[in-house]
Amino acid sequence: MGQRDRLYASENVLIGPVGFYASVPAAQAHVDHFLRRTWWRKHSPVRFVTLQYPAKGMSGATRVDEKHWQIDFGYTSLNDLSVAHELTHVLVGVTRATTPAAHERDHNARFAGAELAVVKHFIGAWVSERLREQFDANEVKWTPFE
Ligand SMILES: [Zn+2]
Repeated sequence: MGQRDRLYASENVLIGPVGFYASVPAAQAHVDHFLRRTWWRKHSPVRFVTLQYPAKGMSGATRVDEKHWQIDFGYTSLNDLSVAHELTHVLVGVTRATTPAAHERDHNARFAGAELAVVKHFIGAWVSERLREQFDANEVKWTPFE
């Protein structure tokens, strides 16, 4: 199993306990609030993220322009952790990969560390700690997000 699959497996343990959104507008409101937070504004120039649900295919993040990204969600992905995962793509500026090798590289140690930071600020420190424990148990490489 590669880093990306180990990272997905780590998230999957926590998706159920953390929970799903009641509606697309509820998820969008959570994202809109997060993008106004000081922490996000310090680390990203992106000010608008449009959620598209359900997506035609797999979940993914697409850059519209410097300040605006779109996130497409698959049917089972409208939950806090999947949204945090895609917001991490926005944060590190890595859009939907087109080859398996690129997709693997996109979920490298820098991405995993950035995801821990996003989860901490988007969901909470307790969940971020649990995800880090899963990363360590599954040997997901991660570097602290500066
Ligand atoms: Zn991803």
